[in-house]
Parts: sequence; structure tokens; C-alpha cells
Amino acid sequence: MRIRRARLDGGDRRKRSSRLQMAAMTFKPVPSDVLQRVRVVAVTGEWIARAGRLYGQVFPEIPVRFDLEGRAAGMYQVRGAQRVIRYNPHLFARYPRDSIEVTVPHEVAHYVTDMLFDMRQLRPHGAQWRAVMHDMGVDPCVTADYDLAGIPVRRQRRFVYRCLCREHRLSACRHNRIRRGARRYSCRSCDGELIYDTADATNRSR
Ligand SMILES: [Zn+2]
Ligand SMILES: [Zn+2]
Repeated sequence: MRIRRARLDGGDRRKRSSRLQMAAMTFKPVPSDVLQRVRVVAVTGEWIARAGRLYGQVFPEIPVRFDLEGRAAGMYQVRGAQRVIRYNPHLFARYPRDSIEVTVPHEVAHYVTDMLFDMRQLRPHGAQWRAVMHDMGVDPCVTADYDLAGIPVRRQRRFVYRCLCREHRLSACRHNRIRRGARRYSCRSCDGELIYDTADATNRSR
């Protein structure tokens, strides 16, 4: 008798636990990468709306996709009449803060530049894009390390700087800031100030 009852109880418990499992599956918390994508899409929309207010225009929201591979964190793409912002899901998962703060406004600025000036006539990171970044209150220099794939970009000239421990290659944007005395940069490893390499200067003046 006891044994039978025990079995019944056991069976009952199994049934109950499988019901609990089903409930757990139904109410599974939304994975963090999904939440992050929702947030990135929302932030992208906010930047587009903010730029619209800035220029007194309505820039329609455009599709945002997370299908970019490789070294580029983001890409603004035009195919025919279709405009899209693509993000790199791997880099966004790895560097969530940089992605939201740097990549999102960077790509939105490409879109806005395209709407204002027709990007095909311009260099991607030219004066118009930088002006839009400036108007949006975003530092275009911070984006210098972000590559574009798919959009033809002239390879940026890099300027050789040295700290106490190694060589650094700086974008023209940063180089010009240092030349103007507007900024100083120091190395994250040794904390030494970055000094322009005299050999690099000599090579260029030749
Ligand atoms: Zn860009
Ligand atoms: Zn160093």
C-alpha cells in the first residue's frame, strides 16, 4: 500500500514539476541581448528625432538591423530607395556602452547627412558629416577608430605618435587637435603624453 501511494505521490510531483517547467518556459525572462537590441533601436530613433528637431525636418525612422559582421561596429546603407542602419551584434554585445554612445550617433549622423546633402556626392566622414556630428553635440574624433565596411572610404591618414612605451597611430582629426593645442592625449598603459614622431613629420614634408 505504502509503496503504491509513494508511487502515486511521485507521479503527481513529476506532473506538477513539469507544469512548473512549462510555466517557467512561458514566462522566461527576456534575454539581455534582446533587451539591448530593443534599447539600441530606441536610442537610434531618439537620435533621429533629435536631429529632426535640430534641423526643423522630419527624418523618417529607418530599419535597424543587427546583421553586420567583421570589424565595423555600424554601417549606414542605401540601396535604391531603401535606407538602413546596420549594427554589429558581436561588437554591441562586447562593448555595449561604446556602441550606444559612439556608434549609434555616428550612424545616425550618416543618415542625417544623407538626407540633408545627398551623401553620394560627399566623402563619408567629410565636412558635412562632421558638421552634423557637431550640431548633434557628438565628438567626431571619438569615432575615428570605427571602420566602415561597404561604404567606399579613403583610407584615413594616420599620424605616428609615441609615448614612453610604444607607437600610437592617430587620426588626422586628433592630430589637428593636438597641433592647435586644443587637446593632449596620453597613453592608457604608461600614462605618458603622446608626442608626434619627428620621423613621421619629416617623411610627410618630403
Ligand atoms: Zn562613419
Ligand atoms: Zn605608453
